[in-house]
Amino acid sequence: MDDSKYVEMLNSLYVRLGEKKGTGNRFEIPRAEIMYQGSTTVWKNFSRFAELFRRDKEFMIKFFKRELGAPLDDRGEFVVIHRRVAQNILDVKVNSFFELYVRCKECKGPDTHIVEKDSVKILVCEICGASRVIK
Ligand SMILES: [Zn+2]
Repeated sequence: MDDSKYVEMLNSLYVRLGEKKGTGNRFEIPRAEIMYQGSTTVWKNFSRFAELFRRDKEFMIKFFKRELGAPLDDRGEFVVIHRRVAQNILDVKVNSFFELYVRCKECKGPDTHIVEKDSVKILVCEICGASRVIK
């Protein structure tokens, strides 16, 4: 696949993610901004994702550590991933995080939070009230 096809595909993916029933608001997931430093990847806008998704940085770091199979260092605004991660791989992982831990399956909106009950984590939607157990 050439680059322009890939960008086109990603754009249509982001447009779909932006659909949100009811409010008409568009929710756009930004691209991860990365930079390579030796054998590490610096994810420059990591904290922006934590703010946008309204999830603990610790929680996100754990997820990406597991998914990418490499340690991550929290450096405030950015994180350092201890391996080289391709842009498209990171974009896919960001999208899976969003689908698993942020997006409401019912109304497809991003306005959710996680509550913990008897050490079971539950994703609760603030718009439609739907909830589901997450691992
Ligand atoms: Zn919902």
